[in-house]
Amino acid sequence: MNEYDSELVRSILIKENYEFVTDELKADIVLLNTCAVREHAHRRVYGRVHNIRHERGKDSLVMIGILGCMATNLRQSLLEDRSLKIDFIAGPDSYKRLGQLIREAADNGQKAYDVTLSEFETYSDITPNRTDGVNAWIAVMRGCDNFCTFCVVPYTRGRERSRSPENVLKEVRQLACEGFKQVTLLGQNVNSYRYENHDFAYLMDEVSRVEGIERVRFTSPHPKDFPDRLLDLMAANPKICKHVHLPLQAANNRVLNLMNRTYTKGEYLKLVNKIRSKIPNITLTTDIIVGFPTETDAEFEETLQAVIHAQFDSAFSFKYSERQGTIAAKKYPDQVPETVKTDRILRLNKVQNEITYKKNRAHIGQVFEILIEPTPQDKPSHHSVGRTGGNKLVILSKKDYKIGETVQVMITDATPHALKGHPL
Ligand code: SF4
Repeated sequence: MNEYDSELVRSILIKENYEFVTDELKADIVLLNTCAVREHAHRRVYGRVHNIRHERGKDSLVMIGILGCMATNLRQSLLEDRSLKIDFIAGPDSYKRLGQLIREAADNGQKAYDVTLSEFETYSDITPNRTDGVNAWIAVMRGCDNFCTFCVVPYTRGRERSRSPENVLKEVRQLACEGFKQVTLLGQNVNSYRYENHDFAYLMDEVSRVEGIERVRFTSPHPKDFPDRLLDLMAANPKICKHVHLPLQAANNRVLNLMNRTYTKGEYLKLVNKIRSKIPNITLTTDIIVGFPTETDAEFEETLQAVIHAQFDSAFSFKYSERQGTIAAKKYPDQVPETVKTDRILRLNKVQNEITYKKNRAHIGQVFEILIEPTPQDKPSHHSVGRTGGNKLVILSKKDYKIGETVQVMITDATPHALKGHPL
């Protein structure tokens, strides 16, 4: 969502005649689009601001602005921290006021901010300034009404609101004309999408009908409202990628209840079984938090067993970190010791890595249609890379393919992180 929001911000500022530079040292204004989900992300932002101030020197006039969830959540402390010298702050619903905030800060030398939450802002009138060329992110809804107790999103991004299907489809048609092959529909709670009497399955179906778009993805759904209609559509529609990212967070019912996740372990695993029975070749990924306040060893063990049972293709696992302003921060002060959290995440990662490797190796000998993407910086430049419909990264043995091209590939090898393939 932050990548998408950065594209919106670029578009908004270009309209106001700002130019973007690739070398940070040449910038007059540096914007940091931040996430407030984890402590680690917070620390990185503080580190980046200090680095910029250090690199540019104490006499530099460079302005620094903080955008995103951290801007909303920590506005006060960011503005008051004299060592950071932040010039302006804009929350996720205030990007249309960015130009004005920059001018206020530049003209008056005073800190400018707007972190107002909107019940209506969807940026449906802004066309993001995209750079990828293959995949386009499209936020179809913003905000979240779920109030998971560990999460700041309902406070930093406000209530759920959705864009109209016509507005989304207009953007998708334009993207197809520009040569984008894949769209990923985004929402904090994407399957809560609703516009008048249209639900998320309706929107996915309509988007998949747009000529020129070859793949449609979505992220992230909440397990509490995953409709059969959407699963049936995914199973039947070849353009909808066979990948579901289904955050589990924990598997012990007491912990799930403390988290306010509104499902039980049994309900979650039943949904996993249903997804697999309707779409046998599905890629299933998840998010897990270890060490939620008061989580016992036995309760963590239950999460570990659920991971083994569910056989996820991969998992994003995090140590719980308390977020200011959340329900958990107010109600559950009893923290699990850091050493215990570290031990749990290491055990979890070991188990999941083995499953991921086993699942990747099971693809050897199979043929997949791969959509070629720009090669990531950490991959060898003499190979092309692409993804299966199930979102597995494939490194090809040849380099001769154009970005956006679709190639039939036989998988010849696998690592825990990627597949290797030979074009047919
Ligand atoms: S569903 Fe829960 S974790 Fe996800 S954004 Fe909403 S409150 Fe946060």
